[in-house]
Amino acid sequence: MALVSGTEVVNECLSRGLVAGAFNTTNIETTMGIVQAIERVGVPTFIQVAPTNVALSGYEYIYDMVRRRLETTDVPVALHLDHGKSLDAVEGALAARFTSVMIDASEAPYEENIATSARAREMCPPEVALEAELGSIGGKEDEIGPDHASNTDPNQVGHFVEAVQCDMLAVSVGNVHGYAPDARIDFDLLADVRSASSVPLVVHGGSGLPAEQLGRLHEFGVVKVNVASDLRNAMIRTFGEAYAANPDEVSLIRVSKEAVAAIADVVERRIRILNPTAA
Ligand SMILES: [Zn+2]
Repeated sequence: MALVSGTEVVNECLSRGLVAGAFNTTNIETTMGIVQAIERVGVPTFIQVAPTNVALSGYEYIYDMVRRRLETTDVPVALHLDHGKSLDAVEGALAARFTSVMIDASEAPYEENIATSARAREMCPPEVALEAELGSIGGKEDEIGPDHASNTDPNQVGHFVEAVQCDMLAVSVGNVHGYAPDARIDFDLLADVRSASSVPLVVHGGSGLPAEQLGRLHEFGVVKVNVASDLRNAMIRTFGEAYAANPDEVSLIRVSKEAVAAIADVVERRIRILNPTAA
């Protein structure tokens, strides 16, 4: 199957009562691991990359790699730009034919967030899904994080979504990027956000949240949950353990394949946790 638009993944999840995992790739091993898991579980999914993680390759490389791998897969998958902090990043991903993008102007003042996000909406063809962020999610990904995290204000949600016309809204409701053992979703706040708008919601920081919380998100209009740290750590850990076991190890392909398998296991577990009744 070819890549599908982010809107198609969202709509299929909504109609089947599913939550799409959104898994960050950086390289071919991560991509292979993610798709292996998707094929096992059959739940529509986002594969995504943040601007920080194209430093080694570029948007076109990521697009080519993901598209080629998906040619033999039946599950709908969208290729998404994670945390486009600038319109330049959005432009780069669109030029490379990504099918979904995030504009993240959440650290800017409210009106500026609207203006930048609405500009991204204008840049996106109708078939490309747009995710925007309201409230600023704390924690760090790749050493980058907001100076001041803030919760999503339910009173701003309706106006923001109307002004931006985003297809998905990333919310800050207790979720934190990276490994954050104390991160907990504030379900009362999430319910208030849900009541304010019917826009499909996105929760970042899926690696840090407990399974019992992740398994409830579908009840609150959440259709996309981002997971990055878990996968990255699975790959790094595999290489670290191989080296620790044998400092003379030279079979890069063997260890790479072990890393793919470890990533696939992490992704499969997350998809099943997010969809306790479906997967
Ligand atoms: Zn994020």
